[in-house]
Amino acid sequence: MERPFYLDLDLPLWYAWVQKHNLPKFIAKQIFDWVLKGENDPCCFSNIPKNVRDLLSLEYDWDLPKIDTALKSFDGSTKFLLTLKDQKVIEMVLMPSLDRVTLCVSSQVGCRMNCSFCQTAKMGLARNMSAGEILAQIVIANRQLKEIKVTNVVFMGMGEPLDNLAPLIHALKVMTDPCGFGLSKHRVTVSTSGLIPEIKLLANEIAVSLAISFHTPFEEERSQLMPVNRKYPLEDLKKALLEYPIQTRHGITLEYVMIKGKNDSLRHAKALVKFAHGLKVKVNLIPLNPHPGSPMEPALEENLKAFQSYLEERSISAPVRYSRGQDVSGACGQLAVKRQDELTQDPRVLWQKRRHDARNLKTQS
Ligand code: SAH
Repeated sequence: MERPFYLDLDLPLWYAWVQKHNLPKFIAKQIFDWVLKGENDPCCFSNIPKNVRDLLSLEYDWDLPKIDTALKSFDGSTKFLLTLKDQKVIEMVLMPSLDRVTLCVSSQVGCRMNCSFCQTAKMGLARNMSAGEILAQIVIANRQLKEIKVTNVVFMGMGEPLDNLAPLIHALKVMTDPCGFGLSKHRVTVSTSGLIPEIKLLANEIAVSLAISFHTPFEEERSQLMPVNRKYPLEDLKKALLEYPIQTRHGITLEYVMIKGKNDSLRHAKALVKFAHGLKVKVNLIPLNPHPGSPMEPALEENLKAFQSYLEERSISAPVRYSRGQDVSGACGQLAVKRQDELTQDPRVLWQKRRHDARNLKTQS
């Protein structure tokens, strides 16, 4: 029988385990502290009796996802390709900056939201990730960082986090529990295409920071870009946002991918301001990351600036966010870029190519 993955257990489950084995309660806390420190070999749990360590080794699966490749971008971020137990592959991006270390994580292998501009959509949904697999990304990132630790987590990697709700909530609780990874709720951001019932459930269970992939204020256009809009239209989305508990001084983030000739006009900016009326929001303007085979292009700089000014003149903060790690295809939300190719070709060859491209870019910059 398959052994449970050790990171799928939170502290209450470790308590239940020690109780089942008639062990003292404090051992559960000791085990969990080792787990949080990033130790994944029970033999090294030095303050725990040998027979308990043996039992742990026997009963649980202690293998973390493997780092297949780590590609460092010239902007300081690193994209990791991780192989899960069933050989499925996910990506995460580590983005250190002066005052924080942000980790962009995946929540599903693939995605079924089918947004027309998103590369992950092309894969479809392979499977959900378990809570432990979501948390493993933090453990792996912390082990890479050594002295410093991840301070912020954004769910902007592969997958629709709210389409994998129970494991997401479990993982969020462990992330933000002071006895867990201890991250502050406003430093953990769930990004969603707009699954309204799940937004409400999230608000009730654990109201972390929320980001909405918005992309256009027009109903029909949004339904074309994001099929989820047919089920959950803008009016309902706005109601859900009005009810969502605010975590940061900026409120809720609306992510707005700027696509040339599609959603980058002042008519769009005007309708966006109307949507935002009464809401506490910030708009992140993200020039589209183009990908091969797609006719969509990033908005022109002048349109981006005009759009930004229109919003800011109406007191809506609208920073332009250039996706980090572009030279290594590491931009969040595009984490599966080129992965489609990798499914049909030897990944190592492609990664070599990408490394080569990244080096070239670096020399050019
Ligand atoms: N499914 C979730 C989270 C993953 S996508 C969501 O929809 O929010 C994370 C972000 O990357 C989203 O805002 C998404 O719209 C954006 N994104 C997807 N494809 C992109 C592309 N080609 N260029 C720029 N951003 C993109």
